[in-house]
Amino acid sequence: MNRLHIFTFILAIGLSLQLQAKKAEVNRIDPPNWWVGMNHPNLQLMVYGQNIALTQPTLNYPGVALKEVICLESPNYLFLNLEISVDAKPGSFEIQFKDGKKIVDSYNYVLNERFNIPELFKGFDNSDVIYLLMPDRFSNGNPENDEMEGMHEKPKRKNPLGRHGGDIQGIVNHLDYLEELGVTALWINPLLENNMPEQSYHGYAITDYYKVDPRYGTNEDYRKLVEKAHEKGLKIIMDMVANHCGTGYYWNDDLPAQDWYNQWPEFTPSNYRGIVQSDPNVAGYDFDKMVKGWFDPSMADLNQHNPYLAEFIIQNTIWWIEYLGLDGIRQDTYPYAYKDFMAEWMQRILKEYPDYNVVGEVWLNYAPLTAYWLDNETNKDGYRSHLTNVFDFPLMYALNRAFNEEDGWDRGTLALYETLAQDYLYSDPMKLVVMTDNHDGDRFYTKMQEDIRKFKLGMAFAMTVRGIPQIYYGGEILMSGKEHDGHGYIREDFPGGWEGDKVDVFSGKNLSDEQNEALGFTKRLLNWRKSNKAVQFGEFAHYIPENGVYVYFRHTDKESVIIMLNNAEEERTIDLSRFTENLKGYSTGKSVLTRAYFDQLDEITIPAKSPLIVELIKDRSTPPF
Ligand code: CA
Repeated sequence: MNRLHIFTFILAIGLSLQLQAKKAEVNRIDPPNWWVGMNHPNLQLMVYGQNIALTQPTLNYPGVALKEVICLESPNYLFLNLEISVDAKPGSFEIQFKDGKKIVDSYNYVLNERFNIPELFKGFDNSDVIYLLMPDRFSNGNPENDEMEGMHEKPKRKNPLGRHGGDIQGIVNHLDYLEELGVTALWINPLLENNMPEQSYHGYAITDYYKVDPRYGTNEDYRKLVEKAHEKGLKIIMDMVANHCGTGYYWNDDLPAQDWYNQWPEFTPSNYRGIVQSDPNVAGYDFDKMVKGWFDPSMADLNQHNPYLAEFIIQNTIWWIEYLGLDGIRQDTYPYAYKDFMAEWMQRILKEYPDYNVVGEVWLNYAPLTAYWLDNETNKDGYRSHLTNVFDFPLMYALNRAFNEEDGWDRGTLALYETLAQDYLYSDPMKLVVMTDNHDGDRFYTKMQEDIRKFKLGMAFAMTVRGIPQIYYGGEILMSGKEHDGHGYIREDFPGGWEGDKVDVFSGKNLSDEQNEALGFTKRLLNWRKSNKAVQFGEFAHYIPENGVYVYFRHTDKESVIIMLNNAEEERTIDLSRFTENLKGYSTGKSVLTRAYFDQLDEITIPAKSPLIVELIKDRSTPPF
């Protein structure tokens, strides 16, 4: 090769490299589709593809205007801000990505019609009992999807932190069981893709906000689950994570902008101190650690102060609600994200779905801290969360103690009384979600020291106190487990969910006597709760515990229930004259659990360490049987 040839050759390579670099394509657009008739007229499309920022997008559809095209730092993303007018019709249009006059790539974008079912999007309320289940651990309805191409982690049922194969079909298969159990809403841990090398079973390291993990099924399977659940009168509550995503996300090594994540020179964990968000004396150092620190090395902390990321998260939430016909949301790690963003997120949900409910995981142990997050107009710093529901962690901690202690001046059931006496702090205590346990702590039966009497006391309390009760899968058959032993041990497989299981709750095979007793107790309690308006929506009135017995009423104008929790090791006979103010107008009663009939309301005997729930009856001439 002479010099000229070498020069030409280098020039040719250079040109072809340049052309290659300019070659642009669309890999995906999020959200993948949208709807006409939304109350918020704007739509941000995040276009991802090699060099897509070097193109000029255009579209032509009546009622849809492309207002703005933004490129951040990476050339592989474009943000398109669309405005959809009120008269835009459902249909589809081509978004063309051009280099000058040449169309480089295009994407067919669909605008659907919204659900037109008035019963949808009503949220959850005090008539509900929520059942939390972990999809990988509930039931394997389709062993074919346990191992899926492209997914890094393979199934390993023997590993407590491995994937066990549970899936959406497993839930669908057992909706009858759940309906008969008496729960009315399912909170399912995240079903979205977690394509992480290990511990991907829990779902909190999401690697695609728009896609169900193929080991659980497809987006369409999730939608059908919601439909089938609705047919049985069961609501579906989706577990969402706005604070962080899995580091296996496609964007992890090519962020639209460096501030997509809260960045640190090296892995810096959050201090996990949600208290900083309401602390008037907080140090900036601690606040930043809480909000910008990472939850885990595998979970990148999203920066919701980047407006494009913020809009991405908000639209993703709306997309799932509308796509699934979803009934409610549980939002993870609530105080770990910027609270102004979370308030904006809530308002945008309520703008589309005014009756909606979101319960926030605000894991703080004291009522004043919890009360700060439940929407109110009285926070001293003026913060309004717009959050409709919050978990009642303070009451769970009181419940953990109450029945394990002998009653005394400041012990035993007084813990329940004292916690509920602080209800004045809440804008509406009925909006609290009262849980026995959840997937992050010791199982309820373990906390009740594996004593079925305490289990019954605790369940009776949780199902009858003010608020919305939530139980954890397997609690009804006394599954046990300590968080200290590792998360795998509080998230074990539900017996009967896998073919060949020795114990099968669904068919009733090989359950112990105690398990049958607990299951029967739970069914009876929950199914009664379904039909009693007083215990769902009634006023709550309680009496200071005396002699080891805690007594409270749930009442409306029409109905009343008295709940007596005997925490003593001896049988107690209660003189009811102390409760005259709540018994006025009632003459007899019926025990909900034993069906025993009380022909007068003067005194009632309660066996040792047990609950008694009595439906009060106004007119003795019409006994309820
Ligand atoms: Ca499976």
